[in-house]
Amino acid sequence: DGDPSEQWQEYRGAPTGTDLECEGWRQEAALRMLNNNLDPEVAERPEDLVVYGGTGRAARSWDAYDAILAELRSLADDETLLVQSGKPVGRFETHERAPRVLIANSNLVGNWDDWDHFHELEAEGKIMYGQMTAGSWAYIGTQGIIQGTFETLAELARQQYDGDLCGRTVVTAGLGGMGGAQPLAVTMNGGVCIAAEVDEKRIDRRLETGYCMEKVDDVGEAIERAEAAREAGEAYSVGVHVNAASLLETMLEQGYVPDVVTDQTSAHDALEGYYPDGYTVAEADELREDDPDAYLEASLDTMERHVDAILAMQDRGAIAFEYGNNIRGQVQDHRGHEDAFAFPGFVPAYIRPQFCRGKGPFRWAALSGDPADIHRTDEAVLELFPEKDHLRRWIELAREQVQFQGLPSRVCWLGYSTDGEGEDALTERARFALRINDLVAEGEITAPIVVTRDHLDAGSVASPNRETEAMRDGTDAVADWPILNALLNCAAGADIVSVHDGGGVGIGNSLHANNHVVLDGSELAAEKARAVFTTDPGTGVVRHADAGYEAALEEARESGVHVPMEGG
Ligand code: NAD
Repeated sequence: DGDPSEQWQEYRGAPTGTDLECEGWRQEAALRMLNNNLDPEVAERPEDLVVYGGTGRAARSWDAYDAILAELRSLADDETLLVQSGKPVGRFETHERAPRVLIANSNLVGNWDDWDHFHELEAEGKIMYGQMTAGSWAYIGTQGIIQGTFETLAELARQQYDGDLCGRTVVTAGLGGMGGAQPLAVTMNGGVCIAAEVDEKRIDRRLETGYCMEKVDDVGEAIERAEAAREAGEAYSVGVHVNAASLLETMLEQGYVPDVVTDQTSAHDALEGYYPDGYTVAEADELREDDPDAYLEASLDTMERHVDAILAMQDRGAIAFEYGNNIRGQVQDHRGHEDAFAFPGFVPAYIRPQFCRGKGPFRWAALSGDPADIHRTDEAVLELFPEKDHLRRWIELAREQVQFQGLPSRVCWLGYSTDGEGEDALTERARFALRINDLVAEGEITAPIVVTRDHLDAGSVASPNRETEAMRDGTDAVADWPILNALLNCAAGADIVSVHDGGGVGIGNSLHANNHVVLDGSELAAEKARAVFTTDPGTGVVRHADAGYEAALEEARESGVHVPMEGG
């Protein structure tokens, strides 16, 4: 990738305040969000342009990064920039309502859509891994995933226990960009978390940012401390500096079975995301460099042991689920493991009922850089949705316990459900966005707010081992939906639209789309927000209605979403 660009060294995060480097706020928002993704407080390895999720990058090379900035600075209000796998490749006159930036990352044609071909092209500098929010400039650090993790565990607690995790232990691994949210999400639900992580620096980072409470090297010591907290009914988390497979096997040898077992190592990428057992991080990094084939074999061997240990814990009574890193698919595809899918993925288990209602993780960032602007948006959420106790609990907990990283931001799950009937009916997301746009116009918020979301959303992903696992009508691998979602986002006037391959499950395993809308207080922003925040969650409702989910059909009827061949 070359040496980090001078411009990046100078910024070290997003520019803030109300002076613009670009010709308008839409271009400026793209420039700030790209730089926010690469803020050392936000990204996992910004000097290599890696944001999170294995090798998810924000730009293909430092030259490409500089070129994107130059394009954004001179981009007119009626032009659209094309970014192909992290490199600017074209710019056209379009019109003011059109997106300012269109992004496609990591996409390959079906028969060529695998890691081998991807790695060949990547080595030649012709493609980049965009992950989900890395290459679409929508990552906001671990704060972005925390609510999803919190909600998933809360749903598990509702289904299995008395609604919280008090007196329960969750064992997991991976304290990276997203996985690092796990200990805090467990303690926010009142439980105890033991998390394995091979890279000590990652544990330290979670300790510094308040996501994890303690660090130990010894598995026995971790179990002892966790048990003491569990018995006392206290929330507690500990990072264990050890390989995940080894943690689980040691626990089994000691006859210890947790209540819940899952994993968030970057198993989707056996070469650059997952660490084989028996090596330090430095030794493994050297092996990868010297002999990638040997690394792959060792990595898959460890993954197989890891899955076997999860299955053994499940046999002994633990609740096991995969947390969207494709570890089951990896050992099934590369080790012929027949029982890998004997534990479920988290989407069918805990998230799909929300997707049927168009509900998903929706996030926004304050371009001013001023935390007070996000606090004002928190109040707006509470004012707009006073009946949602769960949302209130989330906003209150987040305010207390979630530190900002980079641009102050907030996440919350909102969906389609409209507040009435007829043309004036607004979806939850549109109500929120229009209120924020008004607050910007009134000067109560000091600079525009950019609203975006995870690619993991109701209507924006095809991913048979994750978001569309076990769809009711067998359409897990049908990828027309994310493409329609992206096209519709453009038609509705989103300011940035992206389509990626790979995401959290690896090349060839998913297609997904994303959008941004810049709320600058203008009438144009209000029009765009009203349209995008109707069509975007709306595709989630129609996708699940088409698959025959009753909750989605009901949502469509209640909220007036037109489904042409309902039931056919
Ligand atoms: P990351 O690459 O930033 O972090 C992964 C971490 O795992 C690293 O810190 C690494 O040192 C550690 N690790 C790797 N192999 C290990 C092993 N064998 N034992 C112990 N530690 C090991 O990635 P991330 O952003 O945290 O994401 C992690 C994975 O979880 C990805 O595959 C991602 O797609 C998936 N994920 C999915 C969702 C979701 O909502 N579906 C959410 C979060 C993460």
